Amino acid sequence: LYQRIDHIGIAVRSVTDALQVYRDGLSLTLEGIEIVEDQGARVALLTVGQSRIELLEATRQDSPIGRFISKRGEGLHHICFQVTSIVEEIARLKAAGLRMIDEVPRCGAEGRLVAFVHPSTTAGVLIELSQVSAEPTNPKK
Ligand code: ZN
Repeated sequence: LYQRIDHIGIAVRSVTDALQVYRDGLSLTLEGIEIVEDQGARVALLTVGQSRIELLEATRQDSPIGRFISKRGEGLHHICFQVTSIVEEIARLKAAGLRMIDEVPRCGAEGRLVAFVHPSTTAGVLIELSQVSAEPTNPKK
């Protein structure tokens, strides 16, 4: 079940510079900044009503965001849907023929479980699935 668009991810060279636009220019509220070691990213979340904007800066050149920026420059990176059960959703998408980057959920920002769907099967858009609580399902290690 898809509950809402949780956030839209934007790849940026510098979170500090991008905050001057999104926080100071657009006047969005900054929720916080954290390092997601697993993804090699420094992440800033800004609130927009029920959704958020996620600014992503690479902490290393060879991280997914680092590679994205060196190939295409800054810009829209992914759309994240909040789902009730990420494990069920992965199974459902695989059965529907979509190509998963993550067949098992991993830890994303804010301690959430996340999984990415490959853009080759989603009209060129990288899609992130996100589940708020880890309780209802047990991700495999
Ligand atoms: Zn995201």
